[in-house]
Amino acid sequence: MLKSHIIGEEFAKAGVRPGHDGDPRLVPTILELGTEEQKKTWVSKTIRGEISWCQGYSEPGSGSDLASLSTRAVVDGDDFVINGQKIWTSGAQYADMIFCLVRTEPDAPKHQGISYLIFSMDTPGIEVRPLVTMTGDATFNEVFFTDVRVPTDQIVGRRGEGWFVANATLKYERTSLGDPNQAENRFRSIVEMMKRETVDGIPLIEHPTYRDRLLQLQARMLSLKFNGYRVLTRQLRGEDAGLPRWITKLMGCELNHQMASMAIDMLGELGLLYDGSPYLRDEGFWQQRFMMDLGLIIGGGTAQIQKNMISERALGMPKEPKYDERGI
Ligand SMILES: Cc1cc2nc3c(=O)[nH]c(=O)nc-3n(C[C@H](O)[C@H](O)[C@H](O)COP(=O)(O)OP(=O)(O)OC[C@H]3O[C@@H](n4cnc5c(N)ncnc54)[C@H](O)[C@@H]3O)c2cc1C
Repeated sequence: MLKSHIIGEEFAKAGVRPGHDGDPRLVPTILELGTEEQKKTWVSKTIRGEISWCQGYSEPGSGSDLASLSTRAVVDGDDFVINGQKIWTSGAQYADMIFCLVRTEPDAPKHQGISYLIFSMDTPGIEVRPLVTMTGDATFNEVFFTDVRVPTDQIVGRRGEGWFVANATLKYERTSLGDPNQAENRFRSIVEMMKRETVDGIPLIEHPTYRDRLLQLQARMLSLKFNGYRVLTRQLRGEDAGLPRWITKLMGCELNHQMASMAIDMLGELGLLYDGSPYLRDEGFWQQRFMMDLGLIIGGGTAQIQKNMISERALGMPKEPKYDERGI
């Protein structure tokens, strides 16, 4: 655990996103809850980048209330047969494999009727339709399943216990989306940009208003970093790291967007350029991040949902009433 933290820090310093070298959600989930066979089959190939994954969680009508998902899987012989639809599935058009939540026990209470399956995106019956975001790129997709047959042993955890496995994945996803190392990396990039770019011949870094704003971001970046050490300490002690993980997702994703916003403001009219202009700074990185990072405040659980979890589960505030259409 300590080693992977050090590797994460070194990757960030070198400007490498760890997600490119193995799925930061699937690998730790398999290591924590998979069978020995699944560990042997998937972990090293994924880390080496030979297999890429997408995450089939959200459905139309089941996002924040993920446990209400309705994609069905029924057993037929040695297979599950899956029918239904996922949405916002990032990278599904490129992924080799999917980790996917399906309802296998329709009569059980909603959190107990879900299973976590892993299968190839080449399986017959899967149709992927890309969705374009405001960046102009199709980063996510609709994914349709029609009589998709998946062997019953391609399940992580036990049948009906997929909610537990899904939450293990979300736990890792939250810390990777709000990764303090990546935020620190981004902070370094903004400082570089402020040293390089000038207004009326004066570097942005010497502009008092921007310096003030930069220091506020630096304070947030450092508190995110030290919160990351809280996650690590709790993990090493075998304690629950839920609270600092929710804080990481909430703060890290908002901070990344705040840094991109500041860059766009400082670039002035250059910040409005996009797509191939010869005057683009940093190849349009800040414009792209400004738009994409808004999405990451939503993806992996929205900021509002992180705040709910922090207030209800960590601060002991009253829980919001739960509603289940079937009255369960
Ligand atoms: C860039 C991006 C990438 C994504 N990638 C994937 C992916 O790869 N795989 C995948 O499965 N999904 C993915 N998603 C989907 C993402 O997980 C969902 O968008 C998210 O969980 C919110 O669900 P929703 O869109 O249905 O919004 P809703 O749940 O309908 O929420 C709408 C609004 O209501 C608020 N809200 C809802 N419930 C509450 C509540 N109880 N209390 C307070 N406020 C509430 C939300 O915060 C939000 O502001 C991605 C989303 C984005 C933006």
